[in-house]
Amino acid sequence: MPREKRKYIIIAGSIMSGLGKGILTASLGRILKSRGYSVMPIKFDGYLNVDCGTMNPFRHGEVFVLDDGTEVDMDFGTYERFLNISLTKNSSITGGRLFQNIITKERKGEYLGRDVQFIPHLTNEIKKWIKKVGENTNVDIVLVEVGGTVGDLENGYFLEAMRQLKEEEKDNALFVQLTFVPSLSPGEQKTKPTQHASKVLQSIGIHPDMIVCREDELLSKDAREKISLYCGVEKDAIFDDPKLLTVYALPLALEKQNIYEMISKRLNLKNKDGNLREWKSLVDKIKNPKKGMIKIAVVGKYTAVKDAYVSVREALVHACSHNNVGFILDWIESTDLENGNLKEEDIKRYDGIIVPGGFGKRGIEGKINSIRIARENKIPYLGLCLGMQLMVVEYARNVCGLKDANSKEFNSNTPHPVIALLPEQQRIAELGGTMRLGAYSAKLSDESNIKKWYLDSGYKEVVYERHRHRYEVNPEYIDRLKSCGLVVAAMHPDSNVVEITEWSGDGFGIGTQPHVELKSRLENPAPVFLAFVDAAIKKSKKRGDLKK
Ligand code: GLN
Repeated sequence: MPREKRKYIIIAGSIMSGLGKGILTASLGRILKSRGYSVMPIKFDGYLNVDCGTMNPFRHGEVFVLDDGTEVDMDFGTYERFLNISLTKNSSITGGRLFQNIITKERKGEYLGRDVQFIPHLTNEIKKWIKKVGENTNVDIVLVEVGGTVGDLENGYFLEAMRQLKEEEKDNALFVQLTFVPSLSPGEQKTKPTQHASKVLQSIGIHPDMIVCREDELLSKDAREKISLYCGVEKDAIFDDPKLLTVYALPLALEKQNIYEMISKRLNLKNKDGNLREWKSLVDKIKNPKKGMIKIAVVGKYTAVKDAYVSVREALVHACSHNNVGFILDWIESTDLENGNLKEEDIKRYDGIIVPGGFGKRGIEGKINSIRIARENKIPYLGLCLGMQLMVVEYARNVCGLKDANSKEFNSNTPHPVIALLPEQQRIAELGGTMRLGAYSAKLSDESNIKKWYLDSGYKEVVYERHRHRYEVNPEYIDRLKSCGLVVAAMHPDSNVVEITEWSGDGFGIGTQPHVELKSRLENPAPVFLAFVDAAIKKSKKRGDLKK
């Protein structure tokens, strides 16, 4: 049982999307956690997809994977990075999953011949889900982010369920509305969109307890008074969500405005002690890194859509902040390394190269090229999932002399399929499933360089990292690759799946079959990224760019 009665905080949007509800939800959670409360975020998305697995990163940004293999959107990454907790599929409610549940129940006759309706059946299902997450995780506070904008057809029934939840929970539930206050010119703030957004929410029976304003400049006294009057929210319950150098600064910006005091007043929270001191020291290092900047290149395919690799970027932020160093990140379109738009010199100037995950043939040779350049010039290299597979392909071709070695994904007739579909994966494919998804164990080997980084970060010899892929290192080639110097740094303990590879010698190169970036958090950076950033710092120092 939670020490106090369980509380619910519901975060809804306003007239437009993209205001940062996920970051606000995560920030509120972070603040509550610093006061000693356990929190669990839940996100509702109105789309009819059952999960995000089929969504194109070009349109939706990165597909984030949880330990249990659920494919979710980027906001879940934000939650985990801020809260330093691992979520499960129960935190993700989509329109698709809700309807699938309801229809399954209806087919089983669970509604006893009644007509199944949005109210009460669907709304009950939603409330039950949310309360059950609270019970099962036994947290003090459940945070519910309502995706989409208020007034959408797609989330109307969900907001109705939230209205009912508030009726039932009374003072144990709180509504926060995130709105936008644009400035037409400096000093000319417009509160009308906020007024309208609040009216829409009120028209469905929900009165926001607090309003948080995304804005171009801090709210003027006048703007605050207007919002307070028109929306019926006291002035002290209106908060600034200003432009910040880093998203991790939002909990600090809100804390400064005494948001915790307002939440605790409304929800009658007892804890008074706690602060964000340690969080602040990490954020200060992101904002003002003392050691200077390292230069990192990500060689990928969706480089025009930065959101496609958001976890990679964030994992760098975490590892760099712990090293008190900043980074300049360049996104390199891998095809530019195939058509001659970019030369070897353009790659050699970086302190570190990352090839992230990916699917499909386009740009593959450019990525392999960048890996070769990194290896030959001792530029620290980090390969994530596909980046690991291509590290193996490059090594097979150029070090082991296996001409035309490739992954079967890109050339099914290659004479040396060093990356292939393993029989187990083949079976899953035949069953209609497609990928190895979620956390699997990897046993670190003694000859690896990475083992000590994991152990130093408090991990044990067997680590659990998250996967999302079909292809793997072909076991038939493991001995051959090892004999020409590739280090198998980790294997799955009960099978012959290669999890992590490293270059031997004094150049730093590591490839991870799992997406280790997915488990990196600001307070707990991924050991692989810590090792990579450390190598990049050394490289930069050697060049004389970074102070010794
Ligand atoms: N395309 C590769 C595979 O399916 C890599 C996937 C990835 O990078 N997530 O195995």
